[in-house]
Amino acid sequence: MRLMNLASGSTGNSSYVGEGNTHVLIDCGISLKRIKEGLDRINVGLGDLDAVFISHEHTDHISSLGALIRKTGLTVYGTAGTLEELSKTENIPSEGFKEIKYDVPFELGRLLIDPIRISHDAAEPAAYRFAAGSFNDGVSVAVMTDLGYYDAYIEEKLEAVSAMLIESNHDIRMLEAGPYPYPLKQRILGKKGHLCNDHAGELLRGLKGNRLKKVFLGHLSQENNYPELAYETVRMALTLGDHLPRKSHVELEVARPDSASSLLEIEA
Ligand SMILES: [Zn+2]
Ligand SMILES: [Zn+2]
Repeated sequence: MRLMNLASGSTGNSSYVGEGNTHVLIDCGISLKRIKEGLDRINVGLGDLDAVFISHEHTDHISSLGALIRKTGLTVYGTAGTLEELSKTENIPSEGFKEIKYDVPFELGRLLIDPIRISHDAAEPAAYRFAAGSFNDGVSVAVMTDLGYYDAYIEEKLEAVSAMLIESNHDIRMLEAGPYPYPLKQRILGKKGHLCNDHAGELLRGLKGNRLKKVFLGHLSQENNYPELAYETVRMALTLGDHLPRKSHVELEVARPDSASSLLEIEA
């Protein structure tokens, strides 16, 4: 199973997941050129892609969707609410849309996919986890950004994953003291906003499973966060937590807005 982030942040998001000869993208909020360059590094061509999974209709997740569909004709998976919003968007052909439902896993090539309900100010946003085999005893990874909070349902979904991209959007103190207008601060801090560094750390620390090897921290705010701060906050949560199983060994990497992450490969 392979997981790589191509770009992450409010300027654009896209991630790659692959297993055997099955290759998919999660979101396509950066230029086709950048997606192609990112995939080139792992010898995957645009024409090799089997599908793109859309988390929600915000521009930073879909900006090149129209171009990607026209170039490759690939299938677009999303919830009914997301697909409806996309079909209202100019220049996005809807012939290849396929509706998915929260908590109803399905197979695509070598991957098993489970759409996860998340809370965000979009029509019907989703995160995704992908397994090679089964979610209980196979290798699985998750891509989860743009969520205002997490709960026991989310923890359960992430419990057995080997790796994930999780949002670590902002530092609460930087956001509160920063220049954003009050309504925007309220939106980000709200239940349909974005996950802060502290909560990303707490979420990871509290996970009951012991398979977790690697975490990419993503969707960092450029105004209300620093890569080092997100990294250290989450590192500290993982190191100092007295929760079991211990997670001080978990590798952390901050996903960047302007470059691709390393490629994570886990034997299935
Ligand atoms: Zn969003
Ligand atoms: Zn976003």
